[in-house]
Amino acid sequence: MHSNKKFFAVALSALLLVGFIATSLISYYVAKDSTGRQLQEQMLPLTSDNIYSEIQRDLLQPVLISSLMANDTFVNEWARGGEGDPQRMANYLAHIRQKYNAITSFFVSEKTRNYYHPSGIIKQVDPSDTADAWYFRARESSDEYEINIDRDTADPSRLSIFVNYRIIDQSGRFIGITGVGLSLNTVAELIENYQKRYGREIFFVNREGDITLRSSNFDEQLHLKNRDGLNRLFTRVLTSPSASVSYELENGNTVYLNSRLVPEFDWFLVVEQINDPATERIEGALLVNVLISVGISVVVLLIAYFTVAGYQRRLETMATQDKLTGATNRQVFDVIFNRAAKRADRAGTPLSLIAMDIDNFKDINDTYGHQRGDEVIRAVAQVIEEQVREVDTLCRWGGEEFVLLLENCDRDQAFDVAEKIRRAVAEHTFRFGADMKSVTVSLGVAERRKNESQDSLQSRCDHAMYRSKGEGRNRVNRG
Ligand code: GH3
Ligand code: MG
Ligand code: MG
Repeated sequence: MHSNKKFFAVALSALLLVGFIATSLISYYVAKDSTGRQLQEQMLPLTSDNIYSEIQRDLLQPVLISSLMANDTFVNEWARGGEGDPQRMANYLAHIRQKYNAITSFFVSEKTRNYYHPSGIIKQVDPSDTADAWYFRARESSDEYEINIDRDTADPSRLSIFVNYRIIDQSGRFIGITGVGLSLNTVAELIENYQKRYGREIFFVNREGDITLRSSNFDEQLHLKNRDGLNRLFTRVLTSPSASVSYELENGNTVYLNSRLVPEFDWFLVVEQINDPATERIEGALLVNVLISVGISVVVLLIAYFTVAGYQRRLETMATQDKLTGATNRQVFDVIFNRAAKRADRAGTPLSLIAMDIDNFKDINDTYGHQRGDEVIRAVAQVIEEQVREVDTLCRWGGEEFVLLLENCDRDQAFDVAEKIRRAVAEHTFRFGADMKSVTVSLGVAERRKNESQDSLQSRCDHAMYRSKGEGRNRVNRG
């Protein structure tokens, strides 16, 4: 019974916990997967798109200025007029640079290959000089202008964004290239701003994967190219115009990455984020779920335990007690008697038995009916119980007969108990519907002899009781 109960409890709690935790985990993974995907497919590309459109917006003004320069009559006429007095061009460029707050402005003549700068002619472009490759590329371009990021000819230590605008005269002849240079700082500020706002790592890499532009609080640790074995993932980023990838770090965190090519710079804009912040909320929810699951399991288990224990107690009571009187039933009495007999033999203490039978009970039944008779049996049992000790065992032997087992009690003491019971029953007034009447019992007492069987002792008690009946009832006899 015990191990059954244990098995029931373990099986029930296992079932509850497995059920609860499985559903919690499934919803956790579904939620995590969908937020991860949302981050990767929507949030990061959106950040990237926003940055790109801001870059394009920032580039609009320099493109416009360069276009104005390329169409300026002064530039056209001065170039076609033989580029006399270079200072005039230098002044013009200085004026443009100052007016539009550019970091540089320039004009390169196709005819003389002179590189004009606000400070004058600083060099002549040369097809064999790689630093001048931009000129020869833009010269052959079919577009009106191109934007590139390059070292400044006047200050090779800094990278700038250049708008290279082609100048074509009215007859369609290529005259040269003019434009302005901008500081990369605006772009750096832009990504810094986005990085702070979204808690994402934002940077540019060139086609080789070298980081070309990044914000000041940049975490070297984070990036793909620093990770062993992940070069292939990085190659994927560098070979497609846009890519979305995610990968696990050794500490279990997930890095989500989005990249897109910014053709104006010929760089990739990369947006990275460690772990989705939504995941932390989902993990919190998972923890709460699991705690609730465990709590509910414990409560259900306790309810189940007490219910089962209650049923078990009731079953035990039903199996050991007489239903009408609550006295011990015959089957259990035999067990109790045997144990008491063994104890008495071992300790050498006396053990006595009293047999009792209600007098003229048939008359009661006949006069008042079986049901009233039952009530009398119950009331008599109660009166008897009131006269005996907790350790004494009253058994309903059958019908209206009882036996009382008295441990540690000799014949004389048992006789006194029997007499006490007799008197108590006789003095009690019993209710028979509307009538109040008295009832008597006849009793027989015997002390167990050494090694005497239950049957023998009981038979001596019965005989004593029959003697009481014969002598007129309502009395006690020793057997
Ligand atoms: P006596 O004084 O000689 O004992 O007379 P009595 O009428 O009590 O005779 P006896 O003990 O032989 O008969 C008991 C009767 O009690 C017999 C039976 O009809 C009735 N009886 C037995 N068990 C029950 C019971 O559980 N409930 C009720 N109401 N009556 C019972
Ligand atoms: Mg009887
Ligand atoms: Mg009787």
